[in-house]
Amino acid sequence: MATRSVVLEVKEVALAIELIELGARLQLLEAETSLSRDRLIRLYKEVKGESPPKGMLPFSTDWFMTWQPNIHSSLFYSTFQFMSREARCEPIHAIVKSYRLYLEHTRLLGEEPALSLTRAWTLVRYFASGLLQTTQCTRCGGHFVAHAHDPRRGYVCGLCQPPSRAGRTRRASQPAPATT
Ligand SMILES: [Zn+2]
Repeated sequence: MATRSVVLEVKEVALAIELIELGARLQLLEAETSLSRDRLIRLYKEVKGESPPKGMLPFSTDWFMTWQPNIHSSLFYSTFQFMSREARCEPIHAIVKSYRLYLEHTRLLGEEPALSLTRAWTLVRYFASGLLQTTQCTRCGGHFVAHAHDPRRGYVCGLCQPPSRAGRTRRASQPAPATT
């Protein structure tokens, strides 16, 4: 038993370090590992060189409906669904793998990642609790994040029908959501 718990602990520390490096908030670390809060805070300081940010996690589904976050969230979530199905790993590992792919994708496109790891994790939890659904765009056929029970008929996504202000000014109008 003692050996097993040591192995388990090493795995949890490794996971916590990986999550911290990807930008996880403390609440995410506490939910996904059984390490103590003090231990997690010490790990966080060691990895990041600073204390974890205080305060509540964002807890509204509305953020995922705004234009650029919706596109980024939909990209992430479709990757997550694929990972969960094909790789058959635990949700947190599917989240980490999908999030790395998402970061790689935005880097290749030269875009700032709008979705933080904590937001991505929150998104998966919203889906699991039935607050969100995916809706298929009637023009491009892609699947996009939507509120649960929103009408699906005639849905057109933000890529096929961008708001008129989108484009040149979209970053200026949506400052740095990735830090939360
Ligand atoms: Zn579309």
